[in-house]
Parts: sequence; C-alpha cells; structure tokens
Amino acid sequence: MMQRILIIEDEVAIAELQKDYLELHGFSVDMSHSGGEGLDLALERAYDLIILDLQLPEIDGFELCRQIRRAKDVPILIVSAKKEEIDKIRGFGLGADDFITKPFSPNELVARSKAHLARYERFLGKNKALEEIRIRELTIDKASRRVYVHGKEVIFTAKEFDLLVYLAANPNRVFSKDDLFERIWGLESAGDIATVTVHIRRIREKIEADPSNPQFIETIWGAGYRFTV
Ligand code: CA
Repeated sequence: MMQRILIIEDEVAIAELQKDYLELHGFSVDMSHSGGEGLDLALERAYDLIILDLQLPEIDGFELCRQIRRAKDVPILIVSAKKEEIDKIRGFGLGADDFITKPFSPNELVARSKAHLARYERFLGKNKALEEIRIRELTIDKASRRVYVHGKEVIFTAKEFDLLVYLAANPNRVFSKDDLFERIWGLESAGDIATVTVHIRRIREKIEADPSNPQFIETIWGAGYRFTV
C-alpha cells in the first residue's frame, strides 16, 4: 500500500520540491499552503507522515504540531528556516519527531521520512504484539477478544475470555479461586467460587488437547490454578 504524506508549507515552490522528491520515491503526497487547511486535512485524513513548516499563515507550525500530536500518532517532521536551538527544543517538546533546517537537501528529507516511517511501523508492530498472547498452539487476540487453537478459532464467553487472559497474562503464578473470582467477577458476584471451577473446566475443554491432563492451566492442589508457560 502506498504511504501517504501531508506537506503543510506556505512557500509553494518549496512544497512542490518536497512533493516531487517524495513522489519520486513512491509516496502519495497532499499539500496545503495554510495552517488552517493543513490542520483540517491532518485531522480528517489518514496520513503516515506529516511535514510541517513553522512560519505559516493562520495557525503557526508549533500550534499545528501540538494539535496534531494531541489527536494522532503520526510522525511529524518540521522543515523550517528557524535555526535557533530554542525552536528545535520547542518543536520536540510539542511532539515533533525531527527538525530539518532550510535550506535542506531533498534527498535528506526523503531519507529521514523513510526512517521515521520505519520507526513508527516497528512501534505499531510492538503494540500489536502486546495485544496478542501466543503460547504454543494457543493464540489470544486481546483486541478482537478471539481465541485460536492451532490457528482455528474457538468461541469463548466473555467471562471465560477474561479469565483466560488474566491467567495467561500472568504466567506461572498461582491464583486461588478467591483471587480469580474477585478479579473476574468482582462486585457483580452473581455466584460463588464454584463458578471459577466451572469456568476453568470449560476453558480446558476448549484449549487443552487432553482436558484431564492440562498443559496450560494446571491445578495446584490446595492453592488454586497456574497458567504454565
Ligand atoms: Ca513559511
């Protein structure tokens, strides 16, 4: 998929130079020559990277940076004639990812754009990893609340799912039935700790190859349950 970049720059010749170079390297590029329109575009459309001038009509680049950063997780590169160190520091403080001073080398702009795009992709990949628990043949997708065994989806009730995630997210720790009941059922407590036993049994039937000899959720006699990794 083509990555989309927004350039907010009031000097048309500079904006077009940036656009040409980025398009040459396979990016899809939108331009805006004013702070107000630039902000609308940045907030309304999905961009992979935003290139920002500081001195702009209507809304200046610092304010744009602050507002975009508050709403979106997207790399922001400032390209500006302002050379003062204090401006750089202010830009970084407002959430800019990089600061390039004019006159700039278009190739450097492209190189830095690519570097920031790659860094954000790694960051997003890591977030995805946090949303997914994979242990042997078991995959738990926390974002979509789905469970897979050997890649095949297994249907879980809400409480079964919550209980499984809680145990799997705290591996090799023993939890008593009371702990688990309080954690998963909490105040709604329409039931008692026998509910925990019933749910553990159902989860085992769904994820264990042999529920009578569980490999994931072990019973620790007299203590409770342990998710073994
Ligand atoms: Ca300007």
